[in-house]
Amino acid sequence: MELDEALRKAADLIVNASSVVAFTGAGISVESGIPDFRSSGGLWSKYDPEVYCNYSVFKQKPELFWKMAVDMQSTMAEAQPNPAHYALAELESMGYLKHVITQNVDNLHQRAGSNKVRELHGNGSTASCMACRSKVPISEAMDQLNSGKSVPVCSRCGGVLRMDAILFGEPLQSSVMEGSLRLAMFAEVMLVIGTSLVVSPANSLVQLCKSNQGTIVICDPSPANSHLAHVMLRGNAGEVLPRLVQACKALRTKGKAQM
Ligand SMILES: [Zn+2]
Repeated sequence: MELDEALRKAADLIVNASSVVAFTGAGISVESGIPDFRSSGGLWSKYDPEVYCNYSVFKQKPELFWKMAVDMQSTMAEAQPNPAHYALAELESMGYLKHVITQNVDNLHQRAGSNKVRELHGNGSTASCMACRSKVPISEAMDQLNSGKSVPVCSRCGGVLRMDAILFGEPLQSSVMEGSLRLAMFAEVMLVIGTSLVVSPANSLVQLCKSNQGTIVICDPSPANSHLAHVMLRGNAGEVLPRLVQACKALRTKGKAQM
């Protein structure tokens, strides 16, 4: 199927479905300058996430995680939402997209204007005290690190601060996971963007939607998961999703003209 035809088909599904959910992974933020740690090279080859982002390692040696965070802070601070994030926010404001479920912790969906975002892996824009749970903007932790501390601490109780992103080996928040499973179960259309679908239990969301007669639309430059897709949109999300929004608008205009 050519991309134009696939876009028309996807738009038709989205406009006519009662419940559309988007499920996004690292791939959607690559165009914002945040590297996917599963791809080789770059920052992640320097910091093995299995060590630097591991929860049991963090509890013993929090300075390792924060050392990596210092090295990555300019990458994270400079990242801006890209046209794919804005396209999803627009689909929400048009009334077509019910929710975004994301594996990302970069806060870019919210910054692009999406209001309904479920973050499976938490959010890296805040940090919390391991002892008293008080929450601060991540900039407060970074300020401490940049002024020479190896581990940022809570200004209230002196406890160790942690980023509010879920680390490897740490359980997902059950309320977020349950809500996401429910969304997947009742979604008529799931728009899957930039996720390799290798991380469990996130990959089960697609299977759950599918086994409940949901239609899967995958947007990805790689054909790796095309066997799971009813409609495959091959290409970078930053180029493809704005075109999908246009296709939805065209259908809406056509629908109104026929009334
Ligand atoms: Zn505290």
